[in-house]
Amino acid sequence: MREDYEMVIGLEVHCELSTKTKIFCSCPTDFGGEPNTHCCPICMAMPGTLPVLNEKVVEYAVKAGLATNCKISRNSKNDRKNYFYPDLPKAYQISQYDLPLCYEGHINIENENGEEKEIRILRIHIEEDAGKLNHDEYGRGSFVDLNRAGVPLIEIVSEPDLRSSAEVETYMRKLKSILEYIEVSDCKMQEGSFRADVNVSVRKKGTTEFGTRTEMKNMNSFRSIVRAIEYEADRQIDVIESGEKVIQETLRWDDVSGKTFPMRDKEDAQDYRYFPDPDLVAIKLSDEYIDNIKSSLPELPESRKKRYISEFDLTEKSANFVTSSKYYSNLFDDAVNVCKNPKSVGNMIMSDIARILNEKEEEPDYIPFTGKELGTLVLLIDKGTISSAIAKKVLTEMFDGEEKDPNKIIEIKGWVQISDEGAIKEVVNKILELNPQSVADYKAGKDKALGFLVGQAMKETKGKANPQLLNKLFLEELKK
Ligand code: ADP
Ligand code: ZN
Ligand code: MG
Repeated sequence: MREDYEMVIGLEVHCELSTKTKIFCSCPTDFGGEPNTHCCPICMAMPGTLPVLNEKVVEYAVKAGLATNCKISRNSKNDRKNYFYPDLPKAYQISQYDLPLCYEGHINIENENGEEKEIRILRIHIEEDAGKLNHDEYGRGSFVDLNRAGVPLIEIVSEPDLRSSAEVETYMRKLKSILEYIEVSDCKMQEGSFRADVNVSVRKKGTTEFGTRTEMKNMNSFRSIVRAIEYEADRQIDVIESGEKVIQETLRWDDVSGKTFPMRDKEDAQDYRYFPDPDLVAIKLSDEYIDNIKSSLPELPESRKKRYISEFDLTEKSANFVTSSKYYSNLFDDAVNVCKNPKSVGNMIMSDIARILNEKEEEPDYIPFTGKELGTLVLLIDKGTISSAIAKKVLTEMFDGEEKDPNKIIEIKGWVQISDEGAIKEVVNKILELNPQSVADYKAGKDKALGFLVGQAMKETKGKANPQLLNKLFLEELKK
């Protein structure tokens, strides 16, 4: 990206709500299933059927609005957005046009320079998801699966306040984490329950007017989103620099070639001929209804972070990291309950657990053990039953093995730390005997030699010797 340009990005995030049933009928919202088994005449768009709005959808959307500092509309409605697409047999999507449920919100993110920045949310509206097309790989045609048709969505539209791909990723992660905390969605990106239309434009630094944007639809991996934004911004700069104009259009990002391709011209609102859905009643919300939802909200990440710093004395960095995901934060709370050692739990999440997830290219929701089990692990270190080196091995087992209970793991693997003085003394003597040079070095004032000897003893005991004891006994022997 050239230094004299800046990106302008706005996101339309689609998030599938985890209500039990669909938005306008009582079909299940479960992901997958045999094609066309989670459908009924309503979500299959049979003529003459009547939709009824699922109250839970309104509740979840209002929750999302309150958690993102939005205003909530007392009067709202559903509108038809007309377009033809094979996975939308009604030829219109029931959405919301001029009266979204929530509007004018914001969330704060910390950008690359460590500055707090407010990203404004223009609106959050409710709508139904479309079905899915499965394209036959042998070219025999395409198949329509309507299981997803009618699954409730909220669309969270940001103002064009984002200025880099890093900011986009931070914003999306924060938003995802908030939605997970308030339990309105599982936000599984690989299942498409959290995906974004990414609008990108570029402009010369110092100018105030926005450039023409392009839009990349349905992006559902952070890595692709970041790559696509970088590519698209560079492409637009090349277009402008060569004296041409960026065309407002919808693009498709191809992950394999790492390029964007035109998909279709951009429609304007009038192309959709929005109008109020005559089959549905207006949505009127009382103050009391909204207040009730407000008081049902769980503790949000911002407030948890403050609490971790004041109550547990975590560093800002550690508290930030642990609260970045509901899964981390709940794991932390449960583990601390068991071991009463918040610092160690925080460090273990931030270093070891994050590293393993990173290696596996997984997100925190993947963690296959409980906070109680993690707390037990920390307790085992604190009690001196295992060394922190062994703890790392136990943690790897907890990720990959069947057995999740650290006590059982160290028993099965025979990893209990050797804290028996007699046994350790034997090892110390053996190592001293085998390394006369190091002994001489140490006595000649080279303190490093001790580290080497301890290392050898650790190797000998496969990391099981109690390190404090080992040090102590070596020193005793060497001083003789
Ligand atoms: P739609 O795409 O449905 O027509 P809007 O016109 O409201 O909807 O814009 C959608 C998104 O595009 C918003 O998130 C907004 O922030 C973003 N956006 C609007 N103008 C620009 C721009 N010039 N550059 C980047 N993003 C923009
Ligand atoms: Zn149905
Ligand atoms: Mg759009």
